[in-house]
Amino acid sequence: MSKEYYELLGVTKSASPEEIKKAYRKLAIKYHPDKNRGDKSAEDKFKEISEAYEVLSDKNKRAQYDQFGPDAFKRSASSGTSGGGFHDPFDIFSQVFGNGGGGGGGGSIFDDLFGGGHSRRSASSARDGSDLRYDLEIDFEDAVYGADKKINIPRMDECSRCKGSGSEPGTGKTTCTRCGGTGQVSLAQGFFSIRQSCPSCGGSGQMIKTPCSSCSGEGRIRIDKNLQIHIPPGVDTGSRLRVSGEGESGYRGGRPGDLYVVIHVKSHDVFLRDGNDIICEVPIDFATAAVGGIIDVPTISGKTRMKIPEGTQNGTVLRLKNKGVPSLRGGGRGDQHVRIFIETPLDLSKEQKKLLKDFTDTLKDAENHPLKEAFEKKAKRFLE
Ligand SMILES: [Zn+2]
Ligand SMILES: [Zn+2]
Repeated sequence: MSKEYYELLGVTKSASPEEIKKAYRKLAIKYHPDKNRGDKSAEDKFKEISEAYEVLSDKNKRAQYDQFGPDAFKRSASSGTSGGGFHDPFDIFSQVFGNGGGGGGGGSIFDDLFGGGHSRRSASSARDGSDLRYDLEIDFEDAVYGADKKINIPRMDECSRCKGSGSEPGTGKTTCTRCGGTGQVSLAQGFFSIRQSCPSCGGSGQMIKTPCSSCSGEGRIRIDKNLQIHIPPGVDTGSRLRVSGEGESGYRGGRPGDLYVVIHVKSHDVFLRDGNDIICEVPIDFATAAVGGIIDVPTISGKTRMKIPEGTQNGTVLRLKNKGVPSLRGGGRGDQHVRIFIETPLDLSKEQKKLLKDFTDTLKDAENHPLKEAFEKKAKRFLE
């Protein structure tokens, strides 16, 4: 049966939260395992007072305890470690000394000493693999329609010989000589000591007896991994595709990282991308621009015919609906914008020049060249 929590902390049932905290601080410093190396009873006491404090410092838990007694908080009895709903006593300790201030000598220092040391302590030797980035250049059309691409990424992968354990197959592990298997070493720091993950075994408490001949005990080897990447339709330069679990392999049982494929779309000599729209500049002859007509226009999905209205000006943009890029998020497609470029004819023969001159003589500015006439009127005083 659990001891009485109030009794453990040496306070009365009517103690204020401040009194409870003060009592815990005093006892926690006294019984902290780093001050009582190898003293099992001090360690147990430290766990008990931490458990008592966890309950009594919480308004709701304290009310429950007052009503139902310690049975309200089941605890695994035999091992002495916190079970059920209890936190690690080191967490409670660093919480109190971390945010308490004052206390036995400067809150944040205690937090650094125990909070930091403790988090290193709980870090096992397993480490997650890092994420990887792969820059992939693709063709304009592949970005529009999507594609499957084979890529080759150099990365760290689990060693197949030792299955990532780092031990030569058939050989076992041996207890770390530096930390004696606890995974922890203590560094003296004045009155206290800092608990630190053992640098020799990485906190696992075990050492490899015979390193794997393939990976030298690292558990991972550098490989060139071949992957097939699906590129969805609608990606653009800067799109990031996440390939879950294809980053670097985890270290000694850690999870693998992710692979991020960053897309770069090659420029195209006919089309220009603008979001989900495609821009295409089409030169036409000036007679068609004047008279109007039907022209062939290239789109990413093939030839289409487009009507040029009579009197089309240079730079006019005509729209072809739904001839752009499919939206990456689904739902529709952009448009193609056709920008008309009126090409002035070059290299005319004598005969052609005469025809044009005769034709021009028939034009009247007011009707045929309204812009020209308006401009000349506006700029009149600068043209005299
Ligand atoms: Zn290996
Ligand atoms: Zn060790």
